[in-house]
Formats: sequence, C-alpha cells, structure tokens
Amino acid sequence: MAPQFDAIVVGAGFGGMGAGIELDRLGLSNFVILEREADLGGTWHVNRYPGLAVDIASVTYSYSFEPNPHWSRLFAPGAELKKYAEHVAAKYDLRRRMRFETVVDGARWDAENEQWVVSIAGGEQLTGRYLATATGFLSQPYTPPFPGIETFAGKIIHTTAWDDDYDLTGRRAAIIGTGATAVQLVPEVARKVDALTVFQRTPIWVVPKVDMPISPAVQRLFASLPLTQKAARLANTTALEALMVIGVLHFRQAKLLNRGAGVLAKAHLRAQVRDAETRRKLTPHYDFGCKRPTFSNTYFKTFNQPNVHLETNSIERIEPEGIVTADGHQTEIDTLILATGFNLWDANFPAIEIIGRDGVNLGKFWRDNRFQAYEGITVPKFPNFLSLNSPYSYSGLSYFTTIEAQMKHMGRLFGEMFRRNERVFEVTERANTEFLDRVTERLGSSVFYGGQCSTARSYYFNQHGEAALLRPTSTLNAHREAVSFPLEDYTYGAA
Ligand code: NAP
Repeated sequence: MAPQFDAIVVGAGFGGMGAGIELDRLGLSNFVILEREADLGGTWHVNRYPGLAVDIASVTYSYSFEPNPHWSRLFAPGAELKKYAEHVAAKYDLRRRMRFETVVDGARWDAENEQWVVSIAGGEQLTGRYLATATGFLSQPYTPPFPGIETFAGKIIHTTAWDDDYDLTGRRAAIIGTGATAVQLVPEVARKVDALTVFQRTPIWVVPKVDMPISPAVQRLFASLPLTQKAARLANTTALEALMVIGVLHFRQAKLLNRGAGVLAKAHLRAQVRDAETRRKLTPHYDFGCKRPTFSNTYFKTFNQPNVHLETNSIERIEPEGIVTADGHQTEIDTLILATGFNLWDANFPAIEIIGRDGVNLGKFWRDNRFQAYEGITVPKFPNFLSLNSPYSYSGLSYFTTIEAQMKHMGRLFGEMFRRNERVFEVTERANTEFLDRVTERLGSSVFYGGQCSTARSYYFNQHGEAALLRPTSTLNAHREAVSFPLEDYTYGAA
C-alpha cells in the first residue's frame, strides 16, 4: 500500500520550512507540513510579547540562501521575523502544503508498508514514507506549579500567549522569571504599569546589545549588492562562533575569553544600576555561558525606576490578591506575567509520541538510556525518521546554522539512498554510539563541565545533569560533517 505522502513534516516554523525546501529539492514534493497553531512561523508566530526581537543579528538569523535586505534593525523585532517566515513560505510554495490547527498526537513506524502512520487529534491518520519532526526546542511553555496559582483573582499571562487586548496601563504587575524573554519584556512593562515587581530566582548574564537601525541606503545596498550582506553575515557569524566555540566549548583552554565576557557584563551592570544591593542581587554566581547569555541596553536600567522592584525571596504561594514570598511578605498585584520559559527535557524530547521499529518508544528510549541522536538528526530503530530537534543537534548560536546543516545532511542521506534505488534508511547503532562518545568527550572541555554551572539552573542541562542540548563543535565543522559523514553510517533498504 503506497503512503499518502512522500513525507510528513511536523511543525511549520523555520525548521519545518527548511525541511520542506530540502524535500522539494530532493524531488519529494508530495509532503504535508502539520502545524498545531493557526499559522506558520513557529516561535515567531506564537511569541508576540512587547519588546520581542531576535538576539542574534538578523543578517545571521535567516536562511543563508534567502537573505532579507529589508531588516529594519541589526536585531529585527519579532514581527519582521514573522513576515520573513511568510515570505519564505510564499516564495518556496510551502503554504499550500501546510495544515494548521492540526495537533499531532503521535507517529508509528509501519514496517510492513515501510511508512509512518501519523495520528492527528480527532482520530484522523495520515501516512508518509518519511517523517520529519520540527517541533522546536522552546515550544512547550512551562508554568511552574506555584501553590494557589488557580486562586489568583487577577489576570495571568504567559509570555507565549500574550493578550494584545489587555491594557497594562496603571496595573500592579509581577513578572516571574529573568530569562531572555524577561530581559526583553521587563523594560516594556515597566514603562506602562504603576508598579512592577520582578521575581528573580537566578540572575542572568546580560551584555550590551550593539543594535541600531539599518538605514534605507544600507538596505538598498544589501538588495543591489547581495555580496555586501553576505560579508556582514560572515563577520557577525565569525564573532558568534568565537564566543561559542572559544568561550563556551573550549572553556578549559580559553578561560580568559569567558572571564572577559563576565567582566564586560559586570561593567555593564555597574554602569547601569545605581543601587549596590540591587547590583549584588543581579550578579550571577555561575560562569558566563552556562546559561544562554542575553543582550540588552535597557534591562538593568529598569531597576533604577521608582516603580520597579526586584524580589529575590523565593515564591511560597500565590493568593487571590498577590504573591507571598518565603519571608511571609505579600506583594499585591492584579497582573501576573509568567516569563517562566519552556519545558525541554520532560515535554519536548520528543514533543509527540514516536514509536519506531520493534515498538521502541523514542521518549522512553531517551529517558531510559541517554539522550542521543546521530549528528543530532537520526536515531537507530527509527527508520525514515528525521528528528530535527534532537539532543546534540543545536550547533552555533543562530538556529539557522542548525537548520541548514540538517538540510545538507538530508541531501547527502537521501542522495545515497536514491543512488542505491532504496527507500528506507536507518542509522546504525555503531555510528550512533561513536557520535555520542565523540560529543561526550568534546563536552569535557566546555564551560558546562569545566566551569561552575551548578547554580545556573540552565536548560542546557537535562534531568541527569548532562549538557545534552548543544552540539559541541563549530558550525563550520557541523556543516562539513553534514556533507561528508560516512555513507555506511546508515543502512539502506528494508529495515
Ligand atoms: P528561560 O530562559 O527558561 O527562563 C525562565 C525563567 O523563569 C528563569 O529565570 C527561571 O528561573 C524562571 N522560573 C522558572 N520556574 C520558576 C519557579 N518555579 N520559580 C521562580 N522562577 C522560575 O525562558 P525564556 O526567558 O523564555 O527564554 C528561553 C530561551 O528562549 C532563551 O534562552 C533564548 O534562547 C530564547 N529566547 C530568545 C529570544 C530572542 O531571540 N529574542 C527572546 C526570548 C527567548 P531559574 O533560572 O531560576 O530557573
């Protein structure tokens, strides 16, 4: 029985769209992209909170093969990313292959028919020869189970479900969380509300953001001479690589660079916050890079405002009128903003139930063994399956370097399979184990194991204390491996 689709892609963000573009290139054009939201764009569709912008310069945070000369700033606001996603979907004819408000419950490998059977909420089933999950890394919103949160009488907003109709003017608000989202949001909320209390459990490293508008003249230059934008991309990517590869991955060999970043962040804090006690509270006690660092010129300054208070006592419970901290104090609020991030390790790897060959459950396999995926994309016992958001898949700081490496991996893998006239692939146990051993060894030099990260509470670490998210290599090397991995790392033909 032939499957309905060449491939089924789950997720219509930049990862899923990249997979779609590559599938078209490979001639597998009969694919469907299933998306639980009402429109495309992934993160950039879901997140609309005030202050939302990229934290990787836009020349780099975009597909290299689809440069956008129209970014209005070095770090484009969120709405421009959403617009860019729409542009890509239109140009590469992806939208007509997308199905929105389609929640995928799970997928099961049907060995007999060499296809994936994908179950959709409501009971429908679709079949595809190949399955690619592009469900994101930061896509399962997390609300901590604060006792009493259900009794809160005011308005609760999670940053991933921003209510555009809710007016913050004159409110007494709390923001819980001080991650990258809060760093962007806090200054915006502080401008509107009467009183803002920021509940911080772990301070975050913040360095200055070298941001500015991109003038129409430069936009015209980028449009007429694409090489100029390519050069800007190369310069920016090189700087990010140095930070990531030298400062984070080779922490043991280059502690000075890492320490330098910490010194810069502390100087930034000193220059921006007047009160010494507030500065002390905002100073991280873990090494730079343990957690994804953030960029902002306005976050620290906000704590000088008389209507803004930083609360570092831990939250004990939530009552109808406010938040009670461990010291017994109640902060009265009418608006509770949860900038509490995402659940990666319990809810995201994988985001849906995936059952492979011999009934192996991917989530159970990862939890019972170690989190692992060959080259961050394929897993033994899961034939014809590309797990685009896998442990050890994220390389570099811009998600687009990961997406494009995976597109190249797909190209090499499918190319070889077609050359052999086969239609089933599966990575070998040996290749997967060798890859896991290699990344484990390389991580030994990183700040995650060589630095002081124990108090960072970083989502880079899983529940077993392993830093199993980032691929410990340069993006250049990740791309080189994507086009040169040994072809015998896979089996081709009946699984
Ligand atoms: P996050 O970094 O995971 O931060 C969540 C915050 O909530 C942390 O400060 C955390 O404190 C706090 N929190 C969680 N549970 C808590 C509890 N029970 N009590 C008190 N505080 C609690 O999430 P995020 O800020 O949404 O950012 C996630 C990632 O998204 C970023 O690292 C970045 O990669 C990406 N992002 C990117 C952009 C951009 O590019 N423009 C913007 C926003 C986000 P602890 O640290 O103590 O756990």
